[in-house]
Amino acid sequence: MKTLTSRIEIVQGDITKLNTDAIVNAANSSLLGGGGVDGAIHRAGGPEILEACKKIVEIQGGCQTGEAVITTAGKLPSRFIIHTVGPVWRGGKNDEQEKLASCYINSLQLAVINDCQSVAFPNISTGVYGFPKVQAARIAVNTVSGFLSKNNRIEKVIFVCFDEENYRLIKEQLNVLSMYS
Ligand code: ADP
Repeated sequence: MKTLTSRIEIVQGDITKLNTDAIVNAANSSLLGGGGVDGAIHRAGGPEILEACKKIVEIQGGCQTGEAVITTAGKLPSRFIIHTVGPVWRGGKNDEQEKLASCYINSLQLAVINDCQSVAFPNISTGVYGFPKVQAARIAVNTVSGFLSKNNRIEKVIFVCFDEENYRLIKEQLNVLSMYS
């Protein structure tokens, strides 16, 4: 069995280029498209993804903060897109931390249910939603490693950091993790 830290990787770049079973999108609750990573995924993946999102909206009226839904990845190399809605940072006293952790857990649960062995995450909520990056990195790494330690079905999680600051912060957290595992 592989060690926990060897199952978590980090890369800097564009998540739409990743060839994992699932890539996670930092969506908004309407599921009908936005900027940032969401815009990049819909642009690169083509209209099939938005069509699938619209069907989900018809059935359940969007996606709540902390929850996740799954669609086709359209033209992207991955099999699925898992859309999760991160919390908007409102000062930290509105359950933002718990909701961000839920995004990672619910996304990984959906990945397991859909037989995914590899999942790529962007740095959820650290763009326009304004979550402080240091805290977000700690929550991301702790939540993912906690999940993987209890679940062997997912072989690999890749943190795809678009900007250098998030890359450095996630890397720091992974170094902390490797000291204690
Ligand atoms: P949120 O609304 O959850 O803050 P954003 O899309 O604004 O979502 O930002 C989330 C993170 O995704 C940010 O760290 C941003 O730098 C990053 N990001 C933007 N485009 C891409 C991309 N193509 N691949 C990976 N990460 C991206």
